[in-house]
Amino acid sequence: MNDATHEVTNQPPPHAGYNAFTSNPWLVAAAGDLAVAPAAKALGDYVGSAEAQELARDANRHEPALRTHDRYGHRIDEVEFHPAYHALMAKAYGAGVHSLAWTAPRDGFTSRAVLFYLWNVLEQGTACPVTMTFAGVQMLRQAPDIARSWEPKVLANAYDPRPLPHTAKRGATLGMAMTEKQGGSDLRQVQTRADVTAAGEYRLTGHKWFCSAPMSDAFFTLARLPEGVTCFFVPRSLPDGTRNPFFIQRLKDKCGNRSNASSEIEYRDTAAWPVGEPGRGIATLINMAHHTRFDIVVAVASMMRAALNQALHHASHREAFGKKLVEHPLMANVLADLALEAEAATLLAFRLAAAFDSAKNDAGERELQRALTPIAKYWLCKRMTAVATEAMECIGGNGYVEESPLARLFREAPLNGIWEGSANVICLDALRALAKSPEALKLLTEEVAKAGEPRLHQRMAGVRKMLADPATAEAGARRALETIALTVQASLMRRYGDAAAADAFIESRLEDSVRAFGALPLETATLNSLVGRARLAT
Ligand SMILES: Cc1cc2nc3c(=O)[nH]c(=O)nc-3n(C[C@H](O)[C@H](O)[C@H](O)COP(=O)(O)OP(=O)(O)OC[C@H]3O[C@@H](n4cnc5c(N)ncnc54)[C@H](O)[C@@H]3O)c2cc1C
Repeated sequence: MNDATHEVTNQPPPHAGYNAFTSNPWLVAAAGDLAVAPAAKALGDYVGSAEAQELARDANRHEPALRTHDRYGHRIDEVEFHPAYHALMAKAYGAGVHSLAWTAPRDGFTSRAVLFYLWNVLEQGTACPVTMTFAGVQMLRQAPDIARSWEPKVLANAYDPRPLPHTAKRGATLGMAMTEKQGGSDLRQVQTRADVTAAGEYRLTGHKWFCSAPMSDAFFTLARLPEGVTCFFVPRSLPDGTRNPFFIQRLKDKCGNRSNASSEIEYRDTAAWPVGEPGRGIATLINMAHHTRFDIVVAVASMMRAALNQALHHASHREAFGKKLVEHPLMANVLADLALEAEAATLLAFRLAAAFDSAKNDAGERELQRALTPIAKYWLCKRMTAVATEAMECIGGNGYVEESPLARLFREAPLNGIWEGSANVICLDALRALAKSPEALKLLTEEVAKAGEPRLHQRMAGVRKMLADPATAEAGARRALETIALTVQASLMRRYGDAAAADAFIESRLEDSVRAFGALPLETATLNSLVGRARLAT
């Protein structure tokens, strides 16, 4: 009908039919010569396809619904998802996005991070259960009796949503439920009670205020024993085939992350198995949180790239005032600046992945990985909302409507900063880690020094001074973490980016005071070359 009044012109073609792996030079460099490259290419094709993007849109527009009872009145506590959600879950689990860290013969964390990065270019709601399943393996290994029968199912590259005991399923997923109404950051406030039966079994009574992916096959959770807060394993189905009492009270009506169900649950006489030492539940679960925080760093780097992809695509096709948007020097400045941010985030995420890979055999990398994870999580999450907003603006009005993936990305942007430790809590954790291990700060300084850039070294000396005084360290923690993150990113840009990109990053992030994106003090030719480096291969 449009034809009757006007011709549709100057609208970009759909951003589909590209390869999200091969069109991303930073990700290709991160994968290097690892065996994951062919799998990444295949997943990159899928992520860039129109079919996958439609599934992502549908899974978010048709939100999950809670079914507490079946038609005959039996309590079932199931969540119904749109077929698009199941299709995405089947693809992610089938591709080993949850498992590769534990199954690859070498460099498992880096290899899996390549796949997880790609997945987050496409859809973040399904990334939540994928992350929890990945991180839960670390927890299973602290409970060998449980791990024996569960680990093979969790590491199977298969998605099986049927509500059956894990032994009858092709694959199993894991979740975690810690947050209660009276406290999320302060888990010492947990009220859920664990009682021991005459037969020596554990039963839980209490609630969890947030429990994402409640259809997972098992959860790590916290409950109180006389010894203190303890970690437990709660399967949804019991070995005899019956369902473990696990009452889903409501699904949260969330700002974003809509394809993923996040719920409020209650335990009533719920069978549970202890994991780790009684009374040491928070310390036990921190291990899982450390891995989910690492995943957040990878996810946010990827979401920045996803936002940049949309902005680049639009600006490369849309014309205003007689030329393509990308040809306008001021737009080139914005795009170049967003590209610097996404590149530095990607380098940081993969430096961290390499440290996770080397941690087993290298004490220094182990320390570095411990200290750098909260620092990177803090800073990238803080930058993500700004990146999403700016990328949305590059697209103009089309960016603000739901048909654009930018709207979804924008609503998703603050979430990674909230869960798995909100900014202040992350800063305090980082301070504790640095105080416990003065070696870590030295290793971070050495990491920065690898760039051979004295001004970066001086920044780290400033941080050491900032943190040396316990009276001011807490209030100044955000400043310290921001400086460390930026300095490490700058060092990585110098070592792995090109000279102009590294110069621009250091000038704008460390020498200049922070401004809006698009205020790089560079000539148009340099801006164009920075944009060119990030440009998508079509
Ligand atoms: C969509 C979604 C899904 C979630 N899924 C899960 C899940 O599956 N399982 C689960 O267990 N939880 C889940 N959560 C909960 C999430 O982990 C918590 O919301 C988060 O840990 C913060 O806890 P809180 O909400 O109780 O906030 P609070 O603990 O009340 O914190 C509020 C603010 O105070 C700050 N703060 C706290 N302590 C200090 C301090 N000492 N100094 C300075 N500032 C401080 C925090 O940084 C935060 O900014 C989910 C949350 C969301 C939004």
